[in-house]
Amino acid sequence: MAYLNINSIKERTFDAIVIGSGMSGGWAAKELTDNGLKTLVLERGRDVKHIKDYPTANMYPFEFEHRGELPLAVKKENPVVGRCYAFGESTAHFFVKDKEHPYIQEKEFDWIRAYQVGGRSLLWARQTQRWSDFDFSGPARDGFAVDWPIRYADIAPWYSHVEKFAGIAGNKDGLQELPDGEFLPGFPLNAVEDYFKKQVSEKFKGRHIISGRCAHLSRPEPVHLEQGRGQCLSRTLCNRGCPLGGYYSSNSSTLPWAAKSGHLTLRPFSVVHSILYDEQKGRASGVRVIDANTKEETEYYAKIIFVNAGSVNTNLVLLNSVSGRFPAGLGNDNGLLGKYVAFHNYSATISAEFDGLKEFTTDGRRPTGGYVPRFRNVFKQETDFLRGYAAGFSAHRGLDRDTGGFGTELKENILNPQLGPWRVGSHMMAETIPKESNYVSLDPDRKDAWGIPQLRISVAYDDNDEKMRKDYLAQFEEMFAAAGFTNIQPRNKPMAPGLDIHEMGGVRMGKDPKTSLLNKWNQFHACKNVFVTDGACMTSTSTQNPSLTYMAITARAANYAAEELKKRNL
Ligand SMILES: Cc1cc2nc3c(=O)[nH]c(=O)nc-3n(C[C@H](O)[C@H](O)[C@H](O)COP(=O)(O)OP(=O)(O)OC[C@H]3O[C@@H](n4cnc5c(N)ncnc54)[C@H](O)[C@@H]3O)c2cc1C
Ligand code: SF4
Repeated sequence: MAYLNINSIKERTFDAIVIGSGMSGGWAAKELTDNGLKTLVLERGRDVKHIKDYPTANMYPFEFEHRGELPLAVKKENPVVGRCYAFGESTAHFFVKDKEHPYIQEKEFDWIRAYQVGGRSLLWARQTQRWSDFDFSGPARDGFAVDWPIRYADIAPWYSHVEKFAGIAGNKDGLQELPDGEFLPGFPLNAVEDYFKKQVSEKFKGRHIISGRCAHLSRPEPVHLEQGRGQCLSRTLCNRGCPLGGYYSSNSSTLPWAAKSGHLTLRPFSVVHSILYDEQKGRASGVRVIDANTKEETEYYAKIIFVNAGSVNTNLVLLNSVSGRFPAGLGNDNGLLGKYVAFHNYSATISAEFDGLKEFTTDGRRPTGGYVPRFRNVFKQETDFLRGYAAGFSAHRGLDRDTGGFGTELKENILNPQLGPWRVGSHMMAETIPKESNYVSLDPDRKDAWGIPQLRISVAYDDNDEKMRKDYLAQFEEMFAAAGFTNIQPRNKPMAPGLDIHEMGGVRMGKDPKTSLLNKWNQFHACKNVFVTDGACMTSTSTQNPSLTYMAITARAANYAAEELKKRNL
């Protein structure tokens, strides 16, 4: 990797700049450098080198001071990130702490962030389901948001491109609503998950349980070995960082690949303040960066800029990029920048017990679980709410430890744990409808430690979300009962938006510059050399986990940008 003499303008000039090194930024870096473009990746956080910087990856539970739990003081200091299921003693070093990066919650919003090289790609749950045409044509069919300027056929080859390189384990399930991809062997369902799958397909037409497709190397191909990655051994300690490279992260895959090309310069501790706009040339010329440690300001220049700061942060950078031409933020001629933010609704769960299949004594260890593709309103509108939900489903069996009694009785109870019943559980993953009233904006007064305005977030659930939550619980209660599960416990799990960690929108794609910010190639309608390819570009949210789609959209746009540069169109 190159080192910079930041005093020289020449050394600060590149073909391409990528803002953010997370899930989508890693892909922009790979594709741009594969096309021979001299690329600068600017990352606000510290560097995290694959393997070397995973300090807890090989630690045993007894080696943690608090056996993996977080002390009460840490939880109290971090009410927001403390609510994320993955924030624990073994992973806390990869998360942004609440006090370090304040934001304003006009309405309650749990903003879960990871500021470091690799971003949240180190921490994700690696679920990677493709979106289908039911998703891309959803707004046009159901009359919300604006029509996507692309369809499944536009992105399908790029899903394949990304899946082959990242490595996605899955089965060919043959479902129109959840297209198959380029899969490595899928992980099996366990006995009770498989039993539920059969029960549901017999008793509920059009409903399916599949093994969740996930970004794990169940059987590495040569391209993965070339990345220096090895087979996933189902240790399921993934979000500590995997020393085997068994799951996809920018750190294990795209960034080292881009570095090998010789065209990458990666600059950690570089907080992008704004994008610079050249009024005479009518195009962006570069970015203003503040050194995270010294607060020194530097400018970097490039012909094209990819904004991949992670949805909400991408909105922040763009809103802060003001110029004579764009006084309300880059490309913001229609005043819609920051609006139509949407997310997923995870606020209901259901659990139960199963008395059968007792001959199976273990649930096995896999890095994924069961997945229930959306079945509501797919082929036609059938309920009084718009769109639908997918769901997770898993079954577990473990030892029940009785900690009752005193003295000898307590000792006996602990030393002789009994095998408990099978326990099953599901969580809802619902689409939300993008609305103008769900927005982010810059606070006019409050700034962060780098002199950048703090973000105000104002998003909330609505009546459609509530109806969907009720329907999910009713449908799953019915399916659980039909499968013979007992002690069924539906739960409304009140949570603020944000904890789904799938925030999207604010810089949406569309056909019409009057109602959208980006065109079908993710270029600003009004500033063609700036591309937004993270979640901020999403016109609607689907029910499927979004990161695979960010990666595919990024690869597509980066290759288009490289082609256009070659043709001198940019
Ligand atoms: C616990 C957890 C589980 C998840 N599970 C799944 C899942 O199963 N499936 C799925 O699809 N998604 C999942 N996600 C979400 C997934 O991680 C995100 O969708 C994805 O990482 C977003 O990619 P990104 O590139 O947009 O942002 P990020 O990966 O967050 O990367 C953004 C990067 O930009 C940097 N940055 C921000 N602002 C600036 C600035 N001003 N200047 C310079 N750099 C900046 C950040 O430091 C960061 O490194 C999960 C997330 C978490 C935390
Ligand atoms: S489950 Fe696979 S990817 Fe995750 S830590 Fe284990 S070996 Fe690594």
